[in-house]
Amino acid sequence: MDRRNFLLAAGVTGAAAASGAGFWRWLEFPTEIRSPGRQLGHLLRDRQANPPPRAHYRTDVLILGSGAAGLTAAWRLAKSGHSRFIVVGGPEPRGNLASGIAGEARYPTGAHYLPLPSRESTHIREMLEDLGIILDGAQAERPYYDERHVVHAPESRLLIDGVWHDGVLPASALPAAGSAEHQRFFSHVDELALARGSDGKRAFAMPIAASSADAQWRALDALSFAAWLEREGYRSAALRWYLDYTCRDDYGRGADQVSAYAGLHYFASRAGDARNAERGAVLTWPAGLGALADRLAQAAGLIRADRSDARPAPRLLDGTAVSLRQIRAGVEALCVTQGAGGLESYVVTARRAICAMPLHAAGRVVEAMQDFGFDPGEHLPAQAPWLVSNFVLSRFPAELPGATLAWDNIVLGSSSLGYVVSTHQDLRVGPPPRTVFTAYHALAEMSPGAAREWMTRASPAELLELASADLRTAYGWKLAACCERAEIALRGHGMAVPAPGYLSNRGLQALREADGRILFAHGDLSGYSVFEEAAWWGDRCARRISSA
Ligand SMILES: Cc1cc2nc3c(=O)[nH]c(=O)nc-3n(C[C@H](O)[C@H](O)[C@H](O)COP(=O)(O)OP(=O)(O)OC[C@H]3O[C@@H](n4cnc5c(N)ncnc54)[C@H](O)[C@@H]3O)c2cc1C
Repeated sequence: MDRRNFLLAAGVTGAAAASGAGFWRWLEFPTEIRSPGRQLGHLLRDRQANPPPRAHYRTDVLILGSGAAGLTAAWRLAKSGHSRFIVVGGPEPRGNLASGIAGEARYPTGAHYLPLPSRESTHIREMLEDLGIILDGAQAERPYYDERHVVHAPESRLLIDGVWHDGVLPASALPAAGSAEHQRFFSHVDELALARGSDGKRAFAMPIAASSADAQWRALDALSFAAWLEREGYRSAALRWYLDYTCRDDYGRGADQVSAYAGLHYFASRAGDARNAERGAVLTWPAGLGALADRLAQAAGLIRADRSDARPAPRLLDGTAVSLRQIRAGVEALCVTQGAGGLESYVVTARRAICAMPLHAAGRVVEAMQDFGFDPGEHLPAQAPWLVSNFVLSRFPAELPGATLAWDNIVLGSSSLGYVVSTHQDLRVGPPPRTVFTAYHALAEMSPGAAREWMTRASPAELLELASADLRTAYGWKLAACCERAEIALRGHGMAVPAPGYLSNRGLQALREADGRILFAHGDLSGYSVFEEAAWWGDRCARRISSA
């Protein structure tokens, strides 16, 4: 994303805020509220009695979870010649990579883009090459990408006082004083992007495991990003709003709750380049990162299976693990699944297991979790709740005169995170007849616990009001006339928050090193949540198993 054209107009009223009467028209289309994984996930919390097992599977490697980490582990195992492994999909197949479909249109219900991978993200480059997304020079300084997946122009725009400006940071709207501060900030992060520690590693690398351990840089983790900005004299209201926006966008919480190291890592770590794309470009698909999930599952040779299926090929089973324990010969998991007649259960035994579920779930599933050095009460990072809302539109709503819809559309001053257009990469002579707009909102205005509680008691109208905030600012109530239906996904435990101190979380450090019968792979291990990190841990577990 081009974050370099900056603005300074703080405080936004918006072009066409919905009128009271207009708002009620929003309720005239059906709204589906989904809580992915909640019902089965809460079985773990509520510890209800499980039905006796009706099947027993034996395999070599068991992967519990089918998100980015689990699917990357499956891809790597298959690539290393393993076929004896089973993936248990969990309460939400594909986790944050899940997507939906409306007729021909696909849309993300979680993650939607991947920045061009940096030099250190060798695992992502190799993966993208295998999946046909990098066409040449995967590990070269500037790989060549399949351009269908590099975000097309116009990439982003920002609504300021009823006028759309190109880019997330439009220089055209920037008074001189703010511009100087903006330049100073980006010069600062440019220097940090090149900085190295005494161990020779980059100060801010992706994955975080490749970053320098030098105390000089790690000391930034002692304070919040907001405190660091204050200390460094960054006071421009618009710059501060923008940096708060980036924290909410990547970490689910505002700059006052995010570590300064993480706030800077966002800018300084992602230095991906390409032969046929601009520096800092991103990759995206109509289904968001659901497209990567499809391709990873295919590359891993995962086939859906049931009890009667005796093929040794990698298998994908529906189910949620309620317990995972070490036994003499390896590991044993008890899993439940929703059968036609109610809950059913089955057992899987394996030589080793990769626990690719979120740590709040692992804390309840893995027997004697403390023995791995992880105490959920002490070490579990706060989990930021998210609303991901898809508006299925029968036609494109009219834009303001002279304005052109971009892929990413943001409203200055909003507490929401704007909306992306799922059909943006659709190359046609004219726009497709139908589209889906995906609106993001991290519930950063409440504590994570209060936000989860609010999600459970909020009415569909309240959820819709919050979910549609930026769309109503951009289009007013008239958008409702184009809207066929809305689907709101409530992600109560969306992502780990990298709060100050997250780099020295000893519980996470211990789980990263676990290399016995149970290994751990999830984005949570990095203390913050992006695809590259989740994939890193899945890849590493599979490599460890393959090389043992
Ligand atoms: C709203 C949102 C938007 C995001 N957008 C982006 C983006 O645009 N780009 C980006 O890079 N990152 C983004 N992220 C972060 C990224 O999606 C995650 O870091 C990554 O997908 C996490 O993958 P994971 O495999 O670690 O975990 P998850 O996605 O959490 O997957 C966990 C898996 O474990 C399974 N599971 C849970 N409990 C059990 C159990 N008891 N038994 C078996 N399985 C279980 C689940 O069903 C699921 O399949 C976003 C995150 C959120 C919440």
